[in-house]
Amino acid sequence: MPADSLHINTKGVERNTFDAIVIGSGISGGWAAKELCEKGLKTLVLERGRDVKHIKDYPTTSMNPWELAHRGQLTTTLAKENPIANRCYAFDEATQHFFVKDKEHPYIQEKPFDWIRGYQVGGKSLIWARQTQRWSRFEFENPARDGYAAWPIGYKDLAPWYSHVEKFVGISGNKDGLETLPDGEFLEPWQMNCPEKHIQQAIHTNYKDRNVIQGRCAHLTSPQQVHLDQGRGKCQARNICYRGCPFGGYFSSNSSTLPWAEKTGNLTLRPFSVVHSIIYDEQKEKATGVRVIDTNTGLATEYFAKIIFVNAACLNTNLILLNSVSNRFQNGLGNDSGLLGKYIAFHDYRANIGATLEGFADKTEYGRRPTAAMIPNFRNVYKHEMDFYGGYMMHYTASPISWQRGFSMDGVGASYKNNLTEPGADWSIYMMIQAETIPQEKNHVRLSKDQKDQWGMPLLITAVDYAENDNKKMKDFWEQGSAMLEKAGCKNINPYDNGRVPGNDIHEMGGVRMGKDAKTSLLNGNSQMHLCKNVFVTDGAGMVSTGNQNPSLTYMALTARAANFAVSELKKQNL
Ligand SMILES: Cc1cc2nc3c(=O)[nH]c(=O)nc-3n(C[C@H](O)[C@H](O)[C@H](O)COP(=O)(O)OP(=O)(O)OC[C@H]3O[C@@H](n4cnc5c(N)ncnc54)[C@H](O)[C@@H]3O)c2cc1C
Ligand code: SF4
Repeated sequence: MPADSLHINTKGVERNTFDAIVIGSGISGGWAAKELCEKGLKTLVLERGRDVKHIKDYPTTSMNPWELAHRGQLTTTLAKENPIANRCYAFDEATQHFFVKDKEHPYIQEKPFDWIRGYQVGGKSLIWARQTQRWSRFEFENPARDGYAAWPIGYKDLAPWYSHVEKFVGISGNKDGLETLPDGEFLEPWQMNCPEKHIQQAIHTNYKDRNVIQGRCAHLTSPQQVHLDQGRGKCQARNICYRGCPFGGYFSSNSSTLPWAEKTGNLTLRPFSVVHSIIYDEQKEKATGVRVIDTNTGLATEYFAKIIFVNAACLNTNLILLNSVSNRFQNGLGNDSGLLGKYIAFHDYRANIGATLEGFADKTEYGRRPTAAMIPNFRNVYKHEMDFYGGYMMHYTASPISWQRGFSMDGVGASYKNNLTEPGADWSIYMMIQAETIPQEKNHVRLSKDQKDQWGMPLLITAVDYAENDNKKMKDFWEQGSAMLEKAGCKNINPYDNGRVPGNDIHEMGGVRMGKDAKTSLLNGNSQMHLCKNVFVTDGAGMVSTGNQNPSLTYMALTARAANFAVSELKKQNL
């Protein structure tokens, strides 16, 4: 669709003009909508997928295993047709309707890359695992210290916005007082079980540089008034959240930010609307709107606004900007540096350790806690001291071995439950890495010159790979993790590589990174495009490095911060 192929009359322009446009309604787009609507801006949220209404559109949310046609398992056909989505652990019979199907949305893998997507109102906020930790000052400062990336902002810039977001979202956790994982505004924490506490104790006794804490997650353990006002209630510890939660027990755009934005009367939500590109006006040196294709009718139209927030999730945000070509920006919006699409990074989850623990056969556990024990990064923190760059976090869980038999356990009703919870077996320990990868220019995405999708958008080519640095980190994790478990008395310690390819972590970041100037980056410290000041990118695309923590809390804080900055700039007539 060439830029000049769309013409609408003046009345149409008026009808299609808003104060702000937000592209994407997932975790970050929901936050942009909430903040902008609350500040009084008439805001249009454009979402490529269908609408998903909280509760009403969660068809499997309360189904028991026996009510699902295949007890939760995928059919062979569905699994075969979706080799990429199927490699995501959360893709099953009860959740598959919230995942993009491989065939419908092709892309080109120059190197193996699992691109896991959720195209619907709410995006991946419906199917995320809800682990939420703040970054520490080390994640912002150490990349520049070690020469692999440079953030234009630091922890202090983001800290008030973390608080702002956490209070609204509802994050459970302990105040642990750690420099490497700052405390936030927490609701009641979940509790570790006895074997997890035992391992925690052993690690604290044997390692002065390591801490084990209870995972922090976006679940309402003790809802506050602001959560009740959202219509959300206490989490019931069922941990089948990927189906959508009827209690609003976990945070999603659908249960929280979008209905909140709607209540202001300033929100217009338009599902089935693929944003094709951003319209740039050379005279005004600004973006004036976006080109949209209606996925039901195939018709193209334009929407206009004073500010545009791009929140289509990292790789789609890269795609839209690369596809936003004009006389002025022939290689993509704001891309004089040629860096758009480059420095894609992600988290490495390849390394695991399995083990068993004896001595707790008389203990059991009730409920399904939606988080794990967590060991914040302890590598290269105060100085660069390893033979690799960056760090990694560890997560571990202990579960009764009897649980692993799960649905195949004998019994029906009460006898099934009793069998599940009956003590008398050893415990199984599972430990995993969550490692920072180092952004490299050669890890990039670009547009295909000749292949297009059904909406006429060029297919995205992914060229992203692991590096030797990641292999060194895995080795260190296996050694350290195994030693820690051994000190805790674990047996059958088995370090292994699960073979996951990049993308399968679903923490893809970069391509539109922040930085101090337009020669080395696309965005400034306010997530604002250096060369197109009324466009803001506040999803993972703007990330300069990946840090060690789960990323979405940081996207939310960056979004809230940028939205408030954009509104103040609008008021000053700077945009
Ligand atoms: C199984 C799983 C577990 C995860 N666990 C965690 C976790 O524990 N902690 C954590 O921090 N993160 C986790 N994540 C990652 C988290 O879901 C993402 O970081 C987060 O959703 C990103 O927010 P976003 O707004 O950038 O993108 P999304 O939430 O994906 O929203 C993007 C939206 O943009 C829409 N869109 C895309 N292209 C266009 C277009 N051209 N036009 C219009 N709309 C468009 C999409 O349809 C989508 O609705 C997990 C993800 C998955 C799938
Ligand atoms: S565990 Fe909590 S958040 Fe998840 S589905 Fe159950 S009540 Fe909802």
